[in-house]
Amino acid sequence: MARYTGPSCRLCRREGMKLYLKGERCYTEKCAIDRRAYAPGQHGKSRKKVSEYGLQLREKQKAKRIYGVLERQFRRYFETADKQKGVTGENLLRILETRLDNVVYRIGFASSRAEARQLINHGHFTVNGKKVDIASYEVRVGETIAVKDDSKKLDKFKELAEFAAEKTAPPWLEVDSEAMEARVIALPSREDIDIPIEEHLIVELYSK
Ligand code: SF4
Repeated sequence: MARYTGPSCRLCRREGMKLYLKGERCYTEKCAIDRRAYAPGQHGKSRKKVSEYGLQLREKQKAKRIYGVLERQFRRYFETADKQKGVTGENLLRILETRLDNVVYRIGFASSRAEARQLINHGHFTVNGKKVDIASYEVRVGETIAVKDDSKKLDKFKELAEFAAEKTAPPWLEVDSEAMEARVIALPSREDIDIPIEEHLIVELYSK
């Protein structure tokens, strides 16, 4: 699947905030936002008045970058969210949040969503006992996401199990870090999704 392969820190600098795209590095003094908190490029430091359209566009770009989704798929998610009952913006965030790569990141079995995608693509995870190597797989209530038995023995996953034990998972996921698995006990509500996105701006942008 196509994905962005440029420098991650540049995306954070463009959005003017930490998007936590590089795992542990994001929590250290090496973080580019802590060192150079202005947009990249020649005019990065100059302040510009942002139009309403500009604000809406930036919000959409931010959401896409946080979840690592490209435009076509993001648009498809929006169309699905728009057809569902309830508030479109919240539906959109719920769809993004229930992607398998996000879930693996949320439960602490990867230090970033990008790492989660890589581990999933390499076949290290199961859903209800069956291998799933599609990062965009949408988890459902009642499903159990687990590290594959063979993979549990790898040093990488021993390290990640310690990381997961220290991480607080959102309330819609019940984690057993020793067993290296988590169960989806509910769908996430808006309050459960702690990302700095004003989703109504994305809905306004796509509704033009
Ligand atoms: Fe963003 Fe992480 Fe890079 Fe900081 S270190 S700029 S939070 S990707």
